[in-house]
Amino acid sequence: MNTPADRRELGMNQPIARRDFLNGVAIGIAAGVSTLHRAQAQSALTANEPALRTGLRGNYPAAVDEFDAIRQGKYAASPLTDAEMQEDYDLVIVGGGISGLSAAYFYRSALGPGPKILILDNHDDFGGHAKRNEFHYQGKTFIGFGGTMGIETPYPYSYGAKALIRDLGVEVERNPEFINRDLERKYGLAAGTFFDKEHFGEDRMVKGNPRLPQFFAKAPLSDAARKDLIRLHGKNPDYMAGSSAHQKRATLAKMSYQDYLLNVAKMSPDALPFFMGSGGRNNKRVDTTPALEAAEHGLVGFNGLNLELEQEFNEGSYLFHFPDGNASIARMLVRSLVPGVLPGDSMEDVVTARANYARLDDGSSPVRIRLNSTAVKVKHVGDPASAKEVAVTYVRGGQARRVRGRNCILACYNMIIPYLCAEMPAKQKEALAYCVKLPLVYTNVQISNWKAFQKLGISGFYAPGSYFSHVTMDFPVSMGNYHFPRSPEESCLLHLLRTPCEPGLDCKDQYRAGRYELVTTKFETFERHVRDQLGRALSAGGFDPDSDIEAITVNRWPHGYAYEYNELFEPVGRPAAERPCVIGRQPFGRIRIANSDADGHAYTNTAIDQGYRAVREIVGS
Ligand SMILES: Cc1cc2nc3c(=O)[nH]c(=O)nc-3n(C[C@H](O)[C@H](O)[C@H](O)COP(=O)(O)OP(=O)(O)OC[C@H]3O[C@@H](n4cnc5c(N)ncnc54)[C@H](O)[C@@H]3O)c2cc1C
Repeated sequence: MNTPADRRELGMNQPIARRDFLNGVAIGIAAGVSTLHRAQAQSALTANEPALRTGLRGNYPAAVDEFDAIRQGKYAASPLTDAEMQEDYDLVIVGGGISGLSAAYFYRSALGPGPKILILDNHDDFGGHAKRNEFHYQGKTFIGFGGTMGIETPYPYSYGAKALIRDLGVEVERNPEFINRDLERKYGLAAGTFFDKEHFGEDRMVKGNPRLPQFFAKAPLSDAARKDLIRLHGKNPDYMAGSSAHQKRATLAKMSYQDYLLNVAKMSPDALPFFMGSGGRNNKRVDTTPALEAAEHGLVGFNGLNLELEQEFNEGSYLFHFPDGNASIARMLVRSLVPGVLPGDSMEDVVTARANYARLDDGSSPVRIRLNSTAVKVKHVGDPASAKEVAVTYVRGGQARRVRGRNCILACYNMIIPYLCAEMPAKQKEALAYCVKLPLVYTNVQISNWKAFQKLGISGFYAPGSYFSHVTMDFPVSMGNYHFPRSPEESCLLHLLRTPCEPGLDCKDQYRAGRYELVTTKFETFERHVRDQLGRALSAGGFDPDSDIEAITVNRWPHGYAYEYNELFEPVGRPAAERPCVIGRQPFGRIRIANSDADGHAYTNTAIDQGYRAVREIVGS
């Protein structure tokens, strides 16, 4: 798929909106633009609008450039003297994700609007994983999510997290009002599964529900695989007969889903590729998901076991999706913190409000948000036990600068803190370094129309074994002045998911391998996979990757989900005081630690809760 003819066929020579960015500045695309409308509408707007930038986004290369230098000790020796301290704040927060923004919000709620707060973030946009992607095309705006997509959690929201969401103006109970399910009904759209020739011998799209026997009848599978998949997706016998429900649960907790399928349910190994790309919570894979979690998650193969599972706790959990995912939560937090950045006052108008980035770091505002600023060193001014201030050195535009805060909250990735804060006790640094974040890629692809989906009768597909494991049309959400495309002739966004990993390794090593893959993969490689996979999967619907793709934004997240403990590889039920995230988040002098990493769970509510706890440790309860 790499000869000049193949490249032409896939459209790799097309001038789509896919600029790469160097330190936030767009570099070259102009040459050879034949279908100008594709790139032109965006390029005029991109200078001050991070959401409009296409190409590699998420943890884009320039944003994480300094991380290696930090780890290698480049900033261990202070590059500036204390006399060069440039600004003073009551609170300096490192990390402008939902946790850091929430911390600022709670600090002001506790102490009023007087205190001066500075939030530093290494990206060109605020929100951390709550990232907005936008596309302007033929006079219309298309809004997608580049990271966290929904207010949703398997755990109940705390009082504080609930109150924050409500006070920002999010009325979660109104979610059904904004979702247009009638489109699926009108066009008879269902889920699809794409079997690829590399894993299944031929490329074939099969529409429908795998729980129905006729589904596997149409799939390219060996007889043994087909028979076993039909059995597993139907009513199963008790594969663990003779054991009590308690014994079964204890055994399943220590066994991977893959081992359960192969060794307990006696599934043919031929059928295993069907499970590549699916797994448990937090994007675990078939070999890293404990079988008990798979059962709790409703995955197939367990319904004959009578496991007496507790109902998942749903009360207090929310399900709400903004067109830009939880970027709207970040935007509403910023709207409440820094005057003049985002106009409006409702959850509907925030969706289309244009942010004035020039106001984020305005000296007249008590809260300032400074982007493109990587904290490289955090150190008390004097002995941590008695210091009155913390000095935070950050690098912006290649230049080291330093600010001073009476308090400091590190709401950044927890595993980088030991390198930022060398003076921390060794035990705390070791605990912080324990977490290995889960890497993943959310790619938004703008297509000129979705006629291929209509023709195939699908709204998306699961692609076991393929580069992107899931491809879906964007959520059909309309809010305020934003309207989801209603006709197949209209352009729409596709959302593609990849969770890079190395099956067979220990969970953390899989994440490390995935992170390495993401930081070494060029945009062109992602693009080639996008074109190849969509072209093959949707070919029967007439999709042409050469002419139907208008823009691609790859949100790579080598530093993705917070690490969640995994029963297969470590003790999960240890007392709270022994959990690495709890040891790691202890107050140290005037430094407090937030971020969802500090909770060991990758959710909006945990990010908020950790911001709240960090503030409470400063101001008292
Ligand atoms: C792709 C993806 C999808 C997700 N989907 C969901 C979902 O649907 N629902 C859900 O509840 N959760 C989801 N999550 C989990 C998500 O991580 C949390 O919900 C939450 O947004 C995390 O917020 P945070 O502030 O703790 O961390 P982050 O959002 O990671 O924010 C931390 C910020 O600190 C910055 N930073 C790091 N180091 C430095 C430094 N040295 N100097 C300056 N800044 C620094 C980071 O770049 C980042 O901007 C998703 C996560 C990812 C990656």
